[in-house]
Amino acid sequence: LDFLAKTDPAIAEILQGELQRQRQHLELIASENFTSAAVLAAQGSVLTNKYAEGLPKKRYYGGCEQIDRAEQLAIDRAKQLFGAAHANVQPHSGAQANFAVFLTLLEPGDTFLGMDLSHGGHLTHGSPVNVSGKWFQARHYGVDPQTEQLDYDQVLEIARKERPKLIICGYSAYSRIINFEKFRAIADEVGAYLLADIAHIAGLVATGHHPNPIPYCDVVTTTTHKTLRGPRGGLILTKDAELGKKLDKSVFPGSQGGPLEHVIAAKAVAFGEDLQPSFKTYCGQVIANSQALAHQLTERGLKIVSGGTDNHLMVVDLRSIGMTGKEADRLVSEVNITANKNTIPFDPESPFVTSGLRLGSPAMTTRGMGTEEFKEIGNIIADCLLNREDEAVKQDCLRRVKVLCDRFPLYPHLTIPVPM
Ligand code: PLP
Repeated sequence: LDFLAKTDPAIAEILQGELQRQRQHLELIASENFTSAAVLAAQGSVLTNKYAEGLPKKRYYGGCEQIDRAEQLAIDRAKQLFGAAHANVQPHSGAQANFAVFLTLLEPGDTFLGMDLSHGGHLTHGSPVNVSGKWFQARHYGVDPQTEQLDYDQVLEIARKERPKLIICGYSAYSRIINFEKFRAIADEVGAYLLADIAHIAGLVATGHHPNPIPYCDVVTTTTHKTLRGPRGGLILTKDAELGKKLDKSVFPGSQGGPLEHVIAAKAVAFGEDLQPSFKTYCGQVIANSQALAHQLTERGLKIVSGGTDNHLMVVDLRSIGMTGKEADRLVSEVNITANKNTIPFDPESPFVTSGLRLGSPAMTTRGMGTEEFKEIGNIIADCLLNREDEAVKQDCLRRVKVLCDRFPLYPHLTIPVPM
């Protein structure tokens, strides 16, 4: 890093600024986390120099001996983590992983069924601005208006009417347990493939804190950078090795070129960490912290979509305090809390404004915080949102955020030299 400060002071200064930002803010974006220094080291390595189209031992380029060992370790560890028969660790992102599944199981024009984006689904599950919604006939289910939880009867009803070739379960902003067995029964009844996109909950699944979709789903996709705490990237898993081979072809050459082998090595490192008993303890703490936060916000009069959380995230419904997600996002960011505005089910506001604020516990749990700290975070957020015009409260919230950040340092041994 000394070298970077000399050769490119502009970028070194940006890295320094970002490290400071991550250290001094409470990171509550549910899809973010802090990787270990080992993951950072593997990703920032000489493996970035290597072309390795193909799969381990079946490459289109020479010189892949070391790369093959790294990728095979990533594959083996991913299979072990989830109890899968097949793993492809090459997708550059969760979106790429999902696209490879579409390319394998569907033809353009085919119908599939996923959750409505505004109810907690993902862009890649049929949004009109994404290839999934442009090239395929996307149909959607939502949550029950009363319970704000999945209504499996409604999913079955829509599936019977639309006869989708593929059903997707797994979401970006849903705080309850998903019953994969029920989804399998629905898929079987209409003769559909079943995809579980566990991008958000993968760490919880790997450690037994959420049911595992592998036995019930044809394909499982995930990102590697959220609760799994690895580098940014995607992963595809199957219980059927033959289907796995078809998916391999949809990743390369179907939709990607050379794999990012430095990222794949970092995935291997993260999966190795995820197999340790300490990661199971971490994931249990992620859920306890999320529940402590939801509980405290509720105590302070705020409403949580579906009334609480079983996982690492929640969406606060701000309508009862007459606030939009956009305003709440701005207010918390002014006291150094990073979160994101989010639609709530049946949101009366546009996706740019929204009525919700999504919060998650993975990142600050990685920094070592427990339920007491998350209770304090709940109080800071409530104080901030319920006293929006009060400058003294804002200053007090800023001070309390700083106290928390100072008590739980991030990357204490990491320094990025600032250019002279
Ligand atoms: N699927 C779900 C459920 C997600 O929440 C996300 C990301 O937020 C993705 C897929 C896409 O992942 P990526 O941003 O790596 O493309």
